[in-house]
Amino acid sequence: MDNKFGSFIDSKRRAPRSWALRSLVLLLGFGCAAFLLLGSYAHPCILPRTNQLSKTVLHTSISRTSSHWQAPKDTNVWNLVLVNPWNPLPEDHSISLKQVGSGQAVDQRCAQALQAMMDDCRAANLSPLICSSYRTQETQQSLYDAQVNDFLSQGYSRDEAESMAATIVALPGTSEHQLGLAVDIVDQNYQILESSQEDTPVQRWLMEHCWEYGFILRYPEEKSDLTGIIYEPWHYRYVGVEAAKVITQAGICLEEYVGATAKAVPDSLS
Ligand SMILES: [Zn+2]
Repeated sequence: MDNKFGSFIDSKRRAPRSWALRSLVLLLGFGCAAFLLLGSYAHPCILPRTNQLSKTVLHTSISRTSSHWQAPKDTNVWNLVLVNPWNPLPEDHSISLKQVGSGQAVDQRCAQALQAMMDDCRAANLSPLICSSYRTQETQQSLYDAQVNDFLSQGYSRDEAESMAATIVALPGTSEHQLGLAVDIVDQNYQILESSQEDTPVQRWLMEHCWEYGFILRYPEEKSDLTGIIYEPWHYRYVGVEAAKVITQAGICLEEYVGATAKAVPDSLS
């Protein structure tokens, strides 16, 4: 016992001789261990918290990028509907679904474009796999609840767990998957939803070509303050070819695109 704790301090000077000194060593040892444990527990990963995301940030960033691209003439169209933590699904939203692949379905208006993108990706000898598409309110609720429970089991408070979960799985009613215009696509050879998904051949192909089919990588890196969602190099959203081209080439996100006013058009986009 003495040797065990003595080794925390100095392997050459072993057990402290007096009881007082031994108690002090034990206290310091436990104190250090507790500090290390709590310290690492409180910062297990870097995730944007929803309570740090604000519309103030959104407007600031929009004006910063205002001279690099042209805003759409009309944002009140089905393919540009904005659904995010601050803009829930419209209450009157209805959807006509079309099957794409086994067990997956999207809004029929983007099904053909999605099928073409998948076909062409496969024609490039790659193996894309749609792992999530349209979700009902109930499905979104169960996914969100599971993520909250995961954080609760790690020791977070309910407030913390709910805030952190909302940046990973959208709150029910605020998910683009409920719109039917979003799909999660992974590489069949690497199906884990984490940032390294971006290095797979499938994602490299999709990131380069998705706009040609009217899709955008919806949650880019370093746009989390605007989208409210962490970087997701697997979530693609249909916005139409015209919008997808501008959004992709200008390096902006959908929030910036639809929230903007007058913009100048650079030569490369006109
Ligand atoms: Zn998704």
